[in-house]
Amino acid sequence: MLVLGIESSCDETGVALYDTSAGLLAHQLHTQMAMHAEYGGVVPELASRDHIRRLVPLTQACLQQAGKSYADISAVAYTQGPGLGGALLAGASFANALAFALNKPVIPVHHLEGHLLSPLLGDDIPEFPFVALLVSGGHSQFMAVRGVGDYTLLGESVDDAAGEAFDKTAKLLGLPYPGGAKLSELAKLGRAGAFELPRPMLHSGDLNMSFSGLKTAVLTAVNKARASDNGAPLSEQTRNDICRAFQDAVVDVLAAKAQQALRQTGFKRLVVAGGVGANWQLRQRLGSLNKVHTYFPPLSLCTDNGAMIAFAGALHLQAAQPAGGFDVKPRWPLSDIVQA
Ligand code: ATP
Ligand code: MG
Ligand code: FE
Repeated sequence: MLVLGIESSCDETGVALYDTSAGLLAHQLHTQMAMHAEYGGVVPELASRDHIRRLVPLTQACLQQAGKSYADISAVAYTQGPGLGGALLAGASFANALAFALNKPVIPVHHLEGHLLSPLLGDDIPEFPFVALLVSGGHSQFMAVRGVGDYTLLGESVDDAAGEAFDKTAKLLGLPYPGGAKLSELAKLGRAGAFELPRPMLHSGDLNMSFSGLKTAVLTAVNKARASDNGAPLSEQTRNDICRAFQDAVVDVLAAKAQQALRQTGFKRLVVAGGVGANWQLRQRLGSLNKVHTYFPPLSLCTDNGAMIAFAGALHLQAAQPAGGFDVKPRWPLSDIVQA
């Protein structure tokens, strides 16, 4: 069975073809990053309009890449939520219209389930059960995953998501939008221990996290450093040191809580998903935990993409879960998905 996957929840248009026996055949992505950069953040209306422009050409490119035609498609999966309402509607409309024209089922997919299952598209495939650490631009959550559709929330950020904290801190340091990845590159050049930042909620005893206070701590560090240099702009080295201190703090908290989640569940496998899963230091730290096998999605599948949606859709199709219709859910907790 050949599933077309459509992702349009935010500022990436992703389209992919997943074959239930041959695997991922094609995936195409257009990121709107450059378009939103001049506004310093995603402009929802521009995002929706751009998705509409990209969906057809990306789908055609996918079919061509896979050597398939529209008639070969068995089902169309799309991101139903959570995300920006208008952006979701663009993908939902396209997916439903195409499925209707082809007389094939349409499969609504939860965006976070896509992220959560994306490590199964890698070379090193985790078996169930596992602890999933979902660290993206909008979410930071620990989930116990016992099977497809069987997800229990163990803990989450009570304020900013880790990726959001990366982006906001980057902005505060004057890095261009979206600064998360750039900040982590600069952290490579920073010296560990040059600045000390707090580890919020490290000892809270539960699996919840908090990252919004870190950006305030960074602001304080920046102001102090500048004051001690007669108000001069930060030197590159100081800025890089602060990037390193910020990343150290986030990684420390995520690593400690990951170990706690593994202890609590007794699971031996840890799966990391979402954009922050691309972070080199997080990969290093979580990849070297004792007696734990850590799985990361391929770098290209960490951030938003159509492949994870096509894949999640294919699993739903195989599980013969009832196909859905035309609907979007901008706010939609993953815990609302219950096993069929
Ligand atoms: P959600 O899935 O929760 O709706 P999203 O789709 O916007 O959010 P992703 O596309 O999974 O999130 O990830 C984007 C986030 O990942 C951004 O916040 C970005 O800064 C962050 N990110 C990407 N690369 C890195 C990196 N190397 N280090 C840290 N953060 C990174
Ligand atoms: Mg994005
Ligand atoms: Fe995402």
